[in-house]
Amino acid sequence: MAQLPDKITFGAIMEPKVAELHQYDFPVVGPEDVVIKMLTNNICTTDYQHWAGLRNHQGFPMAGGHEWAGIIVDKGKDVISDLEIGMQVGLMSNGCGMCFNCRHGRTSDCTNTKGRNAGPGPDGFRGNKCFANYLVFNQNRILHISNDIPPAQAGFLEPVATVVRGIKKVNVKPMEDVVIIGAGTMGLVNAQVAKAWGARVIITEIDPKKLERARSMGFADVVDAKANDPVEAVKDLTGGGADCVIAAVGATIAYKQGYQMLKPLRGRLSLFPAGFPKPELQVDPNELHYRKIEIIGTIGADTVDFVDSATLISKRLVDCSYSLEGAVFPLRDLQKAYELAATPGTYRVTVDLQGV
Ligand SMILES: [Zn+2]
Ligand SMILES: [Zn+2]
Repeated sequence: MAQLPDKITFGAIMEPKVAELHQYDFPVVGPEDVVIKMLTNNICTTDYQHWAGLRNHQGFPMAGGHEWAGIIVDKGKDVISDLEIGMQVGLMSNGCGMCFNCRHGRTSDCTNTKGRNAGPGPDGFRGNKCFANYLVFNQNRILHISNDIPPAQAGFLEPVATVVRGIKKVNVKPMEDVVIIGAGTMGLVNAQVAKAWGARVIITEIDPKKLERARSMGFADVVDAKANDPVEAVKDLTGGGADCVIAAVGATIAYKQGYQMLKPLRGRLSLFPAGFPKPELQVDPNELHYRKIEIIGTIGADTVDFVDSATLISKRLVDCSYSLEGAVFPLRDLQKAYELAATPGTYRVTVDLQGV
């Protein structure tokens, strides 16, 4: 039995641009609960946008955070043996398990929001209080990631899971030519997962730094889309067009190029992110018909995708270290961490949860 404190310290956004620490009594550990000593939590886009006042509709005070990793230090008597004391773990979102969609395995389409994101808890705080030194969670939300993976990288469980869902949905198959448009954080996750699925990956990008980073990660077919016509380059590399294009940039030009890169018949185009301002997608319905083209949308991840994501990260088939800013703040400096994270051009900022 681990020595546990009387209170848990957690960070919350109280109003736009104000993050503070608060405490609550250490909860009673139920038979299906795991107790997690937290290691790190990366500040995701949704987190710092909330801090910056761009998501006020989600309400305050918000004690969120989801890209964390921690170590199990205690567990209830009914917790499964897949979750043992000493294991590094992360958080997955899952559905209620009971509604029609969940029973079909489509947990990201769960329609039962009762008790989840339904509003503030009895103490007034919204969110799961994951910028904290400890967490107590039901085992059904917790997934093991190899202890060999640094916690800030294990924190990419959720973003990688959303890519896994997209790769499955667009049905990437071994030896196919798969183009990724954009070598930003999620573009390079898409590239790595497509490679793990057995595809030959081609990346197009305009930013010199991102081009260099894609090459340094071992991708051979990287097209400078500023110096070259990316559509022609892809047609040359593939001998006529790609089996599949994943637009990892939500922009009209990316969709247009992606559509033009498809092979003559049965090409598939995936629109991975949303884009702001709203991009346009111009397609000729008759062409879609005669060329049997598929255009798909994707968002979120189902439970099985989180499990695959944990495997990809644990086996180092996906490495997201390139997306970490390298800046680490202790929990007491959460406000400073948000200030840096919200600065344009910054990668993921990490909050160290061990020294409160
Ligand atoms: Zn996130
Ligand atoms: Zn459900």
